[in-house]
Amino acid sequence: MNQMLTLALSKGRIFDETLPLLEAAGIHVTEDPEKSRKLILPTSDPQLRVVIVRASDVPTYVQYGAADFGVAGKDVLLEHGGEGLYQPVDLQIAKCRMSVAVHSGFDYASAVHQGARLRVATKYVQVAREHFAAKGVHVDLIKLYGSMELGPLVGLSDAIVDLVSTGSTLRANNLVEVEHIMEISSRLVVNQAALKLKREKLQPIIDAFAKASLREK
Ligand code: ATP
Ligand code: MG
Repeated sequence: MNQMLTLALSKGRIFDETLPLLEAAGIHVTEDPEKSRKLILPTSDPQLRVVIVRASDVPTYVQYGAADFGVAGKDVLLEHGGEGLYQPVDLQIAKCRMSVAVHSGFDYASAVHQGARLRVATKYVQVAREHFAAKGVHVDLIKLYGSMELGPLVGLSDAIVDLVSTGSTLRANNLVEVEHIMEISSRLVVNQAALKLKREKLQPIIDAFAKASLREK
């Protein structure tokens, strides 16, 4: 039976932080995606290959079974919806938080208190919509694909919803974090059909990832 497995990863921190988990499962990725232009990378396991996709596309590849499993941030999974995905392990990698930030001169608390309608620029429209609805704050959401920090600086929006780790990008752009929405980390996502059909090959890798991720906590 063909038990070839495909793992979807994005370049950068997810790839870098998944490498030690793969090592713990006895798997080495033999090429560096930052150097190679290849989108399909072989590994030391002839039955496992890695495909390199955009971070926000990982759930899509796994949902359609083009990849059997992948690693995706909670931020990405919430926007995607997680349909058709089994999420067995919080890998405790690529940790950050999702926050509301405004220009340092903007009085967010009074604007909210006065019931003002706020313009919020973000890549995370689902999370932002739910967050402000739960608070009873009326917002006009503006969808962006990156550089959210620019929004309040050029008058596009009053606030942004973005990922923050050290806060240095916010500080460099004269923005302040005014609300913490949720903690973010990356999850292992598995195609539900693959889990049934390729369990023999997949389960030991899932178990090794789960065990190794306990050390990341
Ligand atoms: P793309 O570059 O394709 O637009 P992206 O910018 O979301 O996507 P990355 O910056 O590699 O891609 O982020 C991948 C994941 O890492 C995010 O989905 C999130 O879960 C997490 N992440 C993003 N920013 C940080 C950060 N500053 N610190 C820790 N983890 C982060
Ligand atoms: Mg990025």
